[in-house]
This record gives sequence, structure tokens and C-alpha cells, in this order.
Amino acid sequence: MGANAGRTIAIIGGGIGGLTAALAFARQGANVTLHEQAPAITEVGAGLQITPNGARALHALGLAGALDQAGLRAEAVQPMDALTAHPIARFDLSRQTPPYRFLHRADLIGLLAQACADAGVRIILNARIADMTAAGMADADLTIGADGLHSLARPLLNSPAAPFFTGQVAWRAIIPAADVPPMAQIWMAPGRHVVTYPLPGNRLNIVAVQERATWAAEGWYHADDPANLCAAFTDCAPALRDLLARVEVANLWGLFRHPVAEHWHNDRIVLLGDAAHPTLPFLAQGANLAIEDALALARMTRAQPDLVEALQAYQGARRPRVARAIAAANANARNYHLSGLQRRVAHLGLKTLGKIAPDAFINRLGWLYDHDVTSSSE
Ligand SMILES: Cc1cc2nc3c(=O)[nH]c(=O)nc-3n(C[C@H](O)[C@H](O)[C@H](O)COP(=O)(O)OP(=O)(O)OC[C@H]3O[C@@H](n4cnc5c(N)ncnc54)[C@H](O)[C@@H]3O)c2cc1C
Repeated sequence: MGANAGRTIAIIGGGIGGLTAALAFARQGANVTLHEQAPAITEVGAGLQITPNGARALHALGLAGALDQAGLRAEAVQPMDALTAHPIARFDLSRQTPPYRFLHRADLIGLLAQACADAGVRIILNARIADMTAAGMADADLTIGADGLHSLARPLLNSPAAPFFTGQVAWRAIIPAADVPPMAQIWMAPGRHVVTYPLPGNRLNIVAVQERATWAAEGWYHADDPANLCAAFTDCAPALRDLLARVEVANLWGLFRHPVAEHWHNDRIVLLGDAAHPTLPFLAQGANLAIEDALALARMTRAQPDLVEALQAYQGARRPRVARAIAAANANARNYHLSGLQRRVAHLGLKTLGKIAPDAFINRLGWLYDHDVTSSSE
């Protein structure tokens, strides 16, 4: 079973990263306790794209069937001109293996939590960890800080690093919508964009982003008047405006950039997911990278009995990869929001690519989607 058999693992945070880690370590024979501050293992009402790199790790944990039941298989991604509602190109996703999927976050959390319970993970709810001397941490062989954006564990290992406002705010919403093809649409307008994709149960997930001089609070739970969302896209095509007009509940938050943590571990504490590397949502990678981290951490600590060496190898393998993904997400934000001549040239480029080499658009992300955390040195 490897070096993790019989180890005591404490995990702070029952989000996607913490639950995946709990499952991976429990499957290796570790005694895993997960501490979650919320009264229930649950998620905000929003969608999630699980790309092949994240799916590969979840499949390795035996979750392929559950994912298929919970998600929709994505067929394509379609950049759209938000001002005219004309598709600019269509890039195929249907041949991705494992499949690229659209899920509701709560469904992914639900299936991970069930698998954790089946694997014997002890989940303690209403358990906000305030310091590392808390019961369960002090005597653990390893404490995993999977505690997200406002991590308690990260500042123990790193000097403070203030996030900075990107000049963008985002709304998220879900509306009822039947017969939507399983495709992500990226509606691009100067200074703004909207991403839409369907979710099981005849729903459409909407994330809309607008450049703004003033900042909004970071966090997922700030309700906003849907009229503000509509007003931000008032010059766009009726097809998009009609979708936004159907939003009844919208949440708004400010998008901040955080540096990737310099130090991910000491001899007994290690970070994963957003605690180590929050990312902007423009490449749909935050959860996928957290899932990869979790599996890589479990595999590397199993293979190398010296825990500190294993943690060093984990940081060495993961940090460059997540830094590259985060840089790619940052670049997407700029590309979606072009105006004037730059916009026309970029759209023409996408259109031409879609006609003469449609696979090139997705293939350029081969380094991201084809990564196999189960077969690399991780
Ligand atoms: C609009 C938007 C869309 C996105 N879409 C995608 C997408 O399509 N695909 C994708 O891969 N990613 C996406 N992401 C990113 C993704 O949601 C996050 O990167 C991911 O959820 C991070 O998981 P995590 O487990 O590291 O942290 P979190 O999900 O933040 O979980 C942290 C957990 O720790 C708990 N916690 C925190 N502090 C304590 C404490 N002191 N004691 C106990 N518990 C604690 C919290 O309650 C929480 O449950 C998106 C993000 C946004 C904002």
C-alpha cells in the first residue's frame, strides 16, 4: 500500500481539493480526518467545467461512472461575437479522453463526499480550525491546508502577499433552459464577456465578466441586482440580452490576482488547491488543478517514505505547472475583451483557425488537458 498506510492525515477544508485528497489518502490506508467549518459539505449554486486533466485524476479514484451520471459530456466550445450573436468558430471537445464535462458544483462535492464516507474518512463539520495546535492537527503525521482563498495554513508558511484587484468583476447565475446543446459559448464584447454552458436538469450556467475601475468584494456570496448585469451588456445582441434578462438571482464579486505561494510545505503542513494558488476563472482550472494537486500529493507521499523529501518533490512538480496554467488564464482575460482593430483581427484569426485547423485551438492546450497526474513523476 505504500508509505501512507497507517499515517494520520488531518485535512482543513472540505471543498473539492480537500475531499479529493481525503479520498486519495484513505484509499492508500491512511487514517484521514477532514475538518470543515461549514455545517454541511455543500457548494455554492454554480457550474463547473471538469477538463480531461482533472477528470483523469478523478477516474483514477474510481469515479468515472459517478462523473458520467452527474455531468454532461461537452461537445464543443464556441467563441461568439456578443455584439452580433454570430458564432466566430466552433472547436470540438467531443474527442477528449477522458471526456470534458459540465457539472453542478454541488453534484461533484456530493459524489466526492459519498466516496470519502465509503472509504472511511472521518468528516467533522462545524469545525473551524483557528490554529495548528487544534485537536487533530498537533498529532497528525501530515496536515493538509485545503482551506481555499483565505487559507489559515498559507500564511504560516509564507510572508503575507496582498492580492490585487484585476479591474474586473464577475457575476454568476443559473437559469432554467431546456434543449441547450452541450457546448460552452464565450460571448466576447469590448471590455466584457459572458461564458454560458448547460448543466444537467435543464439549466444554463452563466458567468459574466466586466472591466471596472472600482472594485467589488472578493468572495462568492455578494448578491447583486440582476438589472446591473443586464445593464452591463445592454449594447449586446438580443440573443445574449434575452438570456441575461432571465436571471433572477445574481452574485457579484471582484476578481483578484494572488501570487502562487512561494512555500507549499514545512515538515508537517502542506498546501493544495486555492490555498496555494488561487486562479482567475478564465481557463476553468481552479478545481481541476486542486484535484490534480490532491492526487499528486497522495501518490508522491506514498512512493517516498521520507515525508519531507516527498513534499519537496510535490512542490517541485506542481508549482511550475500551476504557474503556467494561471498565466494562461490571465492571458485569456485580455483576449476576450479586445476592442477596435485588435478585436477585428483577433476574431478573423479565430474564424480562420476554425476553418483551416480547427483542432489547433484545443491542441494548443494539450500541455494542460493531456497531463496525466497518475503516470508522470508526480
Ligand atoms: C466563477 C468561477 C468559476 C469557476 N469555474 C471553474 C471551472 O469551471 N473549473 C475549475 O476547475 N475551476 C473553476 N473555478 C475555480 C474553483 O472553483 C476553485 O479553484 C476550487 O473550488 C478550489 O477548491 P479548493 O478545495 O482548493 O478550495 P475551496 O473550494 O475554497 O474549499 C475550501 C474549503 O475550506 C473550508 N475552510 C476554509 N477555512 C477553514 C478553516 N479555518 N477551518 C475549516 N474549514 C475551512 C471552506 O469552508 C471550504 O469548504 C471557478 C471559480 C470561479 C470563481
